[in-house]
Amino acid sequence: MTAGKKMVPTRPAGQGEMTDHTGILAKTWPQRDQSTATTINPPLYKGSTVLFDNYGEMLKVGRHEYQGITYGTDRLPTQRQFEEAMRELEGGAVTRVFQSGIAAIQTALLAFTKSGDHILVCDNAYGPGQRFCQKVLNKYNIDCTLIPPSVGADIAEYIRPNTVLILLESPGSITFEIQDIPAITAIARQRNIITLLDATWATPLYMQPFALGVDVSIHSVTKYICGYSDVLAGTVTVNERYSHTFDSFYKLMEIYTPGEECYLALRGLHSLATRLRQHEQSALTIARWLQTVPVVDNVLHPALPCHPQHHLWQRDFQGSSGLFSFTFHHDYADAELAAFIDSLQLFRLGYSWGGYASLLTAAKVNRTIPSKYDGKTIVRLSIGLENCDDLINDLAQGFTLL
Ligand SMILES: *Cc1c(COP(=O)(O)O)cnc(C)c1O
Repeated sequence: MTAGKKMVPTRPAGQGEMTDHTGILAKTWPQRDQSTATTINPPLYKGSTVLFDNYGEMLKVGRHEYQGITYGTDRLPTQRQFEEAMRELEGGAVTRVFQSGIAAIQTALLAFTKSGDHILVCDNAYGPGQRFCQKVLNKYNIDCTLIPPSVGADIAEYIRPNTVLILLESPGSITFEIQDIPAITAIARQRNIITLLDATWATPLYMQPFALGVDVSIHSVTKYICGYSDVLAGTVTVNERYSHTFDSFYKLMEIYTPGEECYLALRGLHSLATRLRQHEQSALTIARWLQTVPVVDNVLHPALPCHPQHHLWQRDFQGSSGLFSFTFHHDYADAELAAFIDSLQLFRLGYSWGGYASLLTAAKVNRTIPSKYDGKTIVRLSIGLENCDDLINDLAQGFTLL
């Protein structure tokens, strides 16, 4: 945590009162009315068939009067427990879990659009989500316009009479631009446009999308929430106004998320705050150190005062996570970059982020909307839970090869 920033949880606990974060998670389990062994973690439910007590109960399903769970795709208890914990952490009305973050994004887009609509998508939003808009939604006569990653009140210029939805990601997970979310959501509300925010970078602990006026908050649970690079999952949490539309669509699609993944996601929430603090601290230390490295040009980290939207980060976020990027002064050839990257022992090469193992990706930026990083190689670091000095030493020896 940087000085002056709020610590998780957001509401300080009074005497004898649990903090929000602890209180929400404490409620998920145990439930002592069950005549089973009470383990620390709730049981993992697996099942396609769910049994009814008698035929009378089964008849209620057809009359829409049955209160229980009807089938494996009707969200078994392990799934419901994770969803409920996420819903409360986010302060939304409904949370639904998906088999990946991209599935969460795609389903949210499908739930809130129809043929003839126009949508706005931030140019720094997750690439596969953008492609879904341009290659799949387009097939169904939904038009998509990309908007600048640091958009604010100027979003009004892009709105058309048939604009129904805005998809934001703040900060973007490669170039880390931050949008002025409250300015955007204020305009969107006036015009009945729904706003979706991919808040994966901040997790539910370091940003409150609903407090910023967002209607739909999306997380790739694959990242920090699970934390071990061995689970794919995503969530969509919706405010009261749009909860019925989303809940009905989820049901209609018969979406199934394996119980194992929900179990691991719920388990991950218990250590999230502690892990994040370490990711945050190490990432800030490494980012500040990189600013002193002669070959490094820009360090793209929202919590650094040099970040172009640092003031928005200070206003809208309660912390920073462990993912950031940097650029070099020099335009190195692939072979030169390979010498640097392949020499690293602790930073491994691979997609995704948010796990205990540090990861690196490097690629040239290729944006639809012109950006100052166009054609530049961006090195992205996911700072894991290794010793921070070891990580710095690893990078330092690599830089000597450039
Ligand atoms: C990884 C990621 C996704 C997609 O999540 P998956 O679980 O890998 O499908 C979506 N948004 C952001 C910002 C991501 O980093």
